[in-house]
Amino acid sequence: MTTIANNLQQVLGRIAQACAAAGRAPDSVSLLAVSKTFGAQAVVQAAAAGQRAFGENYIQEGVDKIAAVGRAFVPALQWHCIGPIQSNKTRLVAEHFDWAQTVDRLKTAERLSAQRPDHLPPLQICIQVNIDGGPTKSGVAPADTVELVRAVAKLPRLQVRGLMSIPDHAPDFEAQLAIHKSARRLFDQISALKEEPGLEGFDTLSMGMTADLEAAIHAGSTLVRVGTGIFGGRTYPAP
Ligand SMILES: *Cc1c(COP(=O)(O)O)cnc(C)c1O
Repeated sequence: MTTIANNLQQVLGRIAQACAAAGRAPDSVSLLAVSKTFGAQAVVQAAAAGQRAFGENYIQEGVDKIAAVGRAFVPALQWHCIGPIQSNKTRLVAEHFDWAQTVDRLKTAERLSAQRPDHLPPLQICIQVNIDGGPTKSGVAPADTVELVRAVAKLPRLQVRGLMSIPDHAPDFEAQLAIHKSARRLFDQISALKEEPGLEGFDTLSMGMTADLEAAIHAGSTLVRVGTGIFGGRTYPAP
């Protein structure tokens, strides 16, 4: 077994254990493998071990990797954009990715919808929420989230799937849990609006990374985003 395949098994074990501890079904949480900074070979190894969903932060790097790995696997790999989306990058995201999890402004969503090619299914969207409130952080303020979700739900080439959050590092399980629970409350509030047009697919709460996936699952995460735990430490930092 390769190191990546072995790491993947361990992460899946952590997820299963956290689900059991939280009294949740083991298939209620899925795994996004965050392959940023790692090459196409790392993706191929994880895919050969059964992983299908991959997350990329840097859009051009992601697009290059999508081109290199192709859509050779069956079922096909699924690519999620989880990094900041500047206006001049929306077209690349709309043309190459399956999901965009970092939409925090209506303008970005409008561009993604307008630029999503007709031959592709709607781009799957999570609204990024600034759940712990840092003024310089990405993400819509919790108080403005419902309004943004409703506006994005009206766009024709997008499908709103849920919320994502990237809270700051918290020192222990209880602190992590408290933050993740506030995202869960917002998620539940919007899930209650599912009969509204465009919100029927709202089913994803993307939170939890290598260091805090147990707390995130306990709070109700449906999608954990794990990089280090699968691929190891990153050798170059975020630009
Ligand atoms: C890098 C990254 C991750 C993965 O973080 P790890 O701590 O390596 O698991 C998850 N989500 C986002 C948005 C990231 O940028």
